[in-house]
Amino acid sequence: MTMRLQTVKDLLAGRDDPALMTEARTIQEQVFGRDIYLRGIVEFSSVCCKKCLYCGLRAPNKHAVRYRLPLERILDAALLAHELGLGTVVLQSGDDYSYTADDICSLVETIKSESPLAVTLSLGDRPLEEMARFRDSGADRYLIKLETTHPGLYARFRPGEHIRDRLERVEALRDLGYEVGSGIIVGLPGMTPDVLARDVLRLAELDLDMLAVGPFVPHASTPLAHEPQGSLEESLRVAALLRILSPRSNIPATSALNSLARGKDEQGRALGLRAGCNVVMPSLTPEEVRRAYEIYPGKNAFTENARQSVAAVVSMIRNQGLRPSSAQGFAPRREHAASAARRPPGHRHGGPQERGQVVAD
Ligand code: SF4
Repeated sequence: MTMRLQTVKDLLAGRDDPALMTEARTIQEQVFGRDIYLRGIVEFSSVCCKKCLYCGLRAPNKHAVRYRLPLERILDAALLAHELGLGTVVLQSGDDYSYTADDICSLVETIKSESPLAVTLSLGDRPLEEMARFRDSGADRYLIKLETTHPGLYARFRPGEHIRDRLERVEALRDLGYEVGSGIIVGLPGMTPDVLARDVLRLAELDLDMLAVGPFVPHASTPLAHEPQGSLEESLRVAALLRILSPRSNIPATSALNSLARGKDEQGRALGLRAGCNVVMPSLTPEEVRRAYEIYPGKNAFTENARQSVAAVVSMIRNQGLRPSSAQGFAPRREHAASAARRPPGHRHGGPQERGQVVAD
């Protein structure tokens, strides 16, 4: 669907929230039924060589607690996803190149051989040849955030980088046969209503498999510490607009929504589900380090361990009258010919036909 820039601006300003949310939920139900896909995320390294102004893991932050999990520990945490009934594991880190391509390939291969999990990688910028090797090892998806598509703001917030390169990387990952996910931050300093509306339209135009949105949450140990936080309401409107503009993409209710919601625990993500989101990503990061993965304050603050975080989201999803699904949850937005070609026989393909599995208590 297409939408005029002014219409997007009006809706982002709250012109007609009830109609916007109803439309988003209706589309969500038509495409995904009551199923909410669960993706367990293992944040395996808090080390990063980049300097993104909005992020608590940025290299110059001397207060950040840095950790690197050994490969065996990452593998244990990843396989826990299967044990807990989830269909996907996401391996995420800062831009930490101390893990070699061989390390990542071996992790992916072992996860794929020991479980039916879909594997998503979120490792930041790696050489394209490495990304091709990860794909050949069996990785299904790659997440690479944009945060904003405005060239000036992008260059300001990600020093030394250019949005053109990021967009080229998105295309390159798609050419490699990955399902590709990306996203934006709502309320970055200097992000005018016009910039945000254009970001929403641009993100939808990219025709991605996963679209994420979260509010800007200032981190005390970054140069943006004293900037105002983003708006929860505006973030929910962006999620709803993305659902309408890109009906068959996966859209996660991000953990950043929780940190701005009044009340506690999973309230922000529950609001995300009511705005048309269809994915939740509980953290499976081991107890001893999970609070150190502080890209924004309070991330992973609500639960102590992986089992608790899965139980909390399962309960939240059920309380919304929805169904936590253990399907791999490939986006039903297009046929993944390349993916199918690389999957072993019997490997599940994504789409509505995946419905039917429900996460057990
Ligand atoms: Fe590193 Fe990502 Fe944070 Fe940027 S946003 S500093 S690349 S972890």
